[in-house]
Amino acid sequence: ADVVEQSMFHDALPQPVKVQEIRHSKLFINNEWQRSCSGRTFPTFNPATGGKICDVEEADKEDVDRAVQAAKAAVQRGSVWRRMDASRRGGMLHKLADLMERDRLLLATLETLDTGKPFLQSFFVDLDGSIKTLRYYAGWADKIHGKSLPVGDFMCLTKHEPVGVCGAIIPWNFPLLMFTWKIAPALSCGNTVVIKPAEQTPLTALHVGSLIKEAGFPPGVVNIVPGFGPTAGAAITNHMDVDKVAFTGSMEVGQLINEAAAKSNLKRVTLELGGKNPSIVFADCNLQLAVEETQKGAFYNQGQCCTAASRVFVEESIYEEFVRCSIQNAKKTVIGDPLDPQTTQGPQIDRLHFDKIMDLIESGKKEGAKLECGGAAVGEKSLFIQPTIFSGVKDHMRIAKEEIFGPVQCIFSFKSQQEAIKRANSSQYGLVSAVFTTSMDRALSVSAALETGTVWVNCYNALHAQMPFGGYKMSGIGRELGEYALAEYSEVKAVTIKLSETI
Ligand code: NAD
Repeated sequence: ADVVEQSMFHDALPQPVKVQEIRHSKLFINNEWQRSCSGRTFPTFNPATGGKICDVEEADKEDVDRAVQAAKAAVQRGSVWRRMDASRRGGMLHKLADLMERDRLLLATLETLDTGKPFLQSFFVDLDGSIKTLRYYAGWADKIHGKSLPVGDFMCLTKHEPVGVCGAIIPWNFPLLMFTWKIAPALSCGNTVVIKPAEQTPLTALHVGSLIKEAGFPPGVVNIVPGFGPTAGAAITNHMDVDKVAFTGSMEVGQLINEAAAKSNLKRVTLELGGKNPSIVFADCNLQLAVEETQKGAFYNQGQCCTAASRVFVEESIYEEFVRCSIQNAKKTVIGDPLDPQTTQGPQIDRLHFDKIMDLIESGKKEGAKLECGGAAVGEKSLFIQPTIFSGVKDHMRIAKEEIFGPVQCIFSFKSQQEAIKRANSSQYGLVSAVFTTSMDRALSVSAALETGTVWVNCYNALHAQMPFGGYKMSGIGRELGEYALAEYSEVKAVTIKLSETI
């Protein structure tokens, strides 16, 4: 709904472009388009049709090593990038944002072709978030500096230096957004990057590779190595010349990455993993707002969000009305061709993931949750799933504990505030949560009690480049976005100078 409302500010809805050919499908290393050492390629598919879009060069260990050596040379002391005035670095990030604005229709179309997400969401949400993230960190580039601390007979200084070569491994649900969340703070702090897009969705990252060159970044500053996790991804995490790795994806792979980072060269690690995110809806809330926001949270991006509102706890006295309104609201979903600007829900990313979601839906039915609507595929052989609502969900059920990553909303009922908080917190995850109430006191006390990195009050998925994002507990390590992310991409050097005379 938000996306359609936003588009009303425009004269006409933006339309996808006709993509005749995919221009960039090779590895982007040292500002050059390169073939993979093995000569292997892999196909990328359109999840809406099942058709192959194109073949992409497949990076492996040797290619990752080439990319890391390019990134290492670009960040070494004395290099053009290392010596560059910080405000020029910021200028390049702004230039990259300008070029993404210029190519916005093409990038949104490519994102929709590769992921199946509705075109208007790609155009407004993913592109907007990506461009704003670049501009936000462009502004920081020349404001990153240390402090002076006089201590007795000493003059002490801190200097903020780049960490060095930053590896990044990103998922398929927000390919372009995650690309910018990783490169923007890294470049702002003067690092260089080797980034691996998800094997399902390499296309927008590669197009941005061409824009990185056009924006004037020196060779080796950003290197893009599409490929698979256990090969190209593992080569990044195990590499002795990669100084930091930033990862977004599943908890299981996050654990592997943390282990590999520790066992290789103790590279710095930031992890943004999954969630089983609770929303608590109190009887004093604005009911329509709570219905719309929690459902937006559950169904957005076909439910394929680490922030998905997958556990909605509703106070007993409004429970039935909330469920009824949620079913009505779900009927507004427009499932169809994601390139059609009217579509609000596209297909799931691939067959494997589709099967996993359908299996969880079946488990919900078997374990006794009440299927209020949906619960089946749309059409035969497609990857589309009806928006699905379960009520009467109990905490022990699989759908209450496991990340579904599909368009499935689970509604629970609760009696007291204390009970709701306890059940909301009883998860290994701690990414985001939401509270719906008109009481300021309740909003503040409940948000203080929730064990999550983000708490939204009377809203959902309200992400801003200025605000830190990351998880408590097994949802991750460290923070992305905001000023906080700068610390994840900087080493702090303490310089202590003994003065010969004190005044
Ligand atoms: P994943 O964690 O397997 O993949 C994410 C990225 O990690 C991809 O680029 C992949 O190639 C890479 N990778 C995989 N194995 C690796 C390894 N051993 N070493 C280094 N890199 C590796 O996620 P997925 O298979 O795309 O999805 C599975 C589940 O992950 C989903 O169902 C969902 O629960 C979760 N997920 C979470 C997010 C998120 O935003 N937090 C995004 C996508 C998926």
